[in-house]
Amino acid sequence: MATTVAHGLIGIVVYCATREARSLSSGDTKLPLNVGVLLLAALVANIPDMDMVVGLLLQGDHRVFHGGISHTLFFAGAAGFMVWLLAKHSHHRAGLSIALTLILLSHVMVDIFTGPVIGFYPTHGALPFWPVYESRMILPLTLFKGVQHSNILPGALLTAIWEFVLLFPVTAMVVYRSCKSDFHCEFALAAKTRKY
Ligand SMILES: [Zn+2]
Repeated sequence: MATTVAHGLIGIVVYCATREARSLSSGDTKLPLNVGVLLLAALVANIPDMDMVVGLLLQGDHRVFHGGISHTLFFAGAAGFMVWLLAKHSHHRAGLSIALTLILLSHVMVDIFTGPVIGFYPTHGALPFWPVYESRMILPLTLFKGVQHSNILPGALLTAIWEFVLLFPVTAMVVYRSCKSDFHCEFALAAKTRKY
């Protein structure tokens, strides 16, 4: 797995990209953009790794369920469908449902390209198409360095710092652009209010 930092920042990028899709806007109103929503997007992007908490609580080992059902296209689609069912009174029903699905899929995509050594080296492998295709998918290109589960804290800290340095500028730029193009963005409204 990549760390919480990479998943969170990429989740924010995916959310901002989704709210730019005109077909998902309700009239002139895009999905909201404020600090709370961005934190929520980062949190949602990390939901699949909650399987480690489940493993720790039920069997005393965080690896037991890790990389299982929560890391599949099926899980992302089912979660999006649940939101679509639950948000039937929201005018952002489709946008919220698709944003959730895409953010969860971004987690799966990042993990698919995670391995021990960055570069043209084999990834750890994942099961994104479970239960349709149950063989482990291993790619020949690693984009994200995985955290060693036997050395989780020091290894994760170094990897997280590296991910933050690489991904934060891109994320900040995407949020800025999404906000700039939107009259309703709460960051822009706050900045305008400060001027007067
Ligand atoms: Zn994961």
